[in-house]
Amino acid sequence: MIILVSNDDGIDSEGLVALEEALKNLGEVHTVAPDRVQNSMSHALTLHRPLRVHEAGPRRLAVDGTPTDCVKLALSGLIPVRPDLVVSGINKGPNLGDDIIYSGTVSAAIEGTLLGIPSIAVSLVSFRDFVFEAAAEFAAALAARVMEKGLPKGTLLNVNVPPEPKREMKGWKLTRMGKRHYKEEVVERVDPRGRKYYWIGGDDLGYAEEDGTDCVAVHEGYISVTPLHVDLTNHRFLSEVTPFTLRWP
Ligand code: MN
Repeated sequence: MIILVSNDDGIDSEGLVALEEALKNLGEVHTVAPDRVQNSMSHALTLHRPLRVHEAGPRRLAVDGTPTDCVKLALSGLIPVRPDLVVSGINKGPNLGDDIIYSGTVSAAIEGTLLGIPSIAVSLVSFRDFVFEAAAEFAAALAARVMEKGLPKGTLLNVNVPPEPKREMKGWKLTRMGKRHYKEEVVERVDPRGRKYYWIGGDDLGYAEEDGTDCVAVHEGYISVTPLHVDLTNHRFLSEVTPFTLRWP
């Protein structure tokens, strides 16, 4: 089995190394990852400049681009084999609820899915003192299962692992995307040359307490596994909601 590993925290991230090590038990691991931190890059693709690649070790390549660039390059011939699975992570920090929209970690898995390969994104729900052991172990177990069972077309798995050690975890749950609450905040200041600048911030104010969501599962001590799909159509709107009327032309 060939596994492509990527992330958005960069090739030097301990989370990436932990994931590589855990997946080596399942097959041949090839890593193509950004050469630096690329958080919140979402699905950005670099089209306005050339991309450079450098070898960071055996079967480890660093790209001066985004997570999406990395997966696209890898699957366009940068690595000599076609992977059976793409795994992105382990991210330093959660990718829960609508944060997924901005996530580079999840986008690497989305790119794998768009290119027809079963893909998994893995994040550790912690902001410091990162211990990746349990997340890496779960990622490998899930990867093995996905290889065996496959995933529906256009579907990827978004995994969030609570920071507790394995023995204190309750298990894992299939979940849906929840909703995070942020204090919308953009700081306006003045630079040393007298020009205004803006810095996007926003304090984390928690999440909506809705049953079955990724946010709630993780808070209760479960690993959350959310199936996502790349078809953004709201099929319920098409089939169930009475469409509004509009005279046209
Ligand atoms: Mn990240």
